[in-house]
Amino acid sequence: MPFPLLHRKKLHGILLDTPQDGTERCRECGGVCCSSFAAVEISWEEYELLRSLGASRLQLSLYGPHRLEIDYGCEFLVQGRCSIYEQRPAICRRFTCRD
Ligand code: SF4
Repeated sequence: MPFPLLHRKKLHGILLDTPQDGTERCRECGGVCCSSFAAVEISWEEYELLRSLGASRLQLSLYGPHRLEIDYGCEFLVQGRCSIYEQRPAICRRFTCRD
């Protein structure tokens, strides 16, 4: 039996030097970037924060950055919105799409 084809949008973007919050573009998007990548890299402090918020898709690493898996959709994406927007990781704050 063949594997089902899972649809995933691909998004292109850049990481800004400084975080940005509440942009008009972000409000209208529906969270495409939150399901366009395999994972986001996070610090240890962010790892602990996300764990305290109930994250179940965390990867602890001894040699590189820790990660929150977002393949096929971040677990914190609820109805197209980040449910932890004020506490989201720095890399999420710095990402801006170019599509
Ligand atoms: S933490 Fe929020 S902004 Fe970051 S990938 Fe998940 S839903 Fe998107």
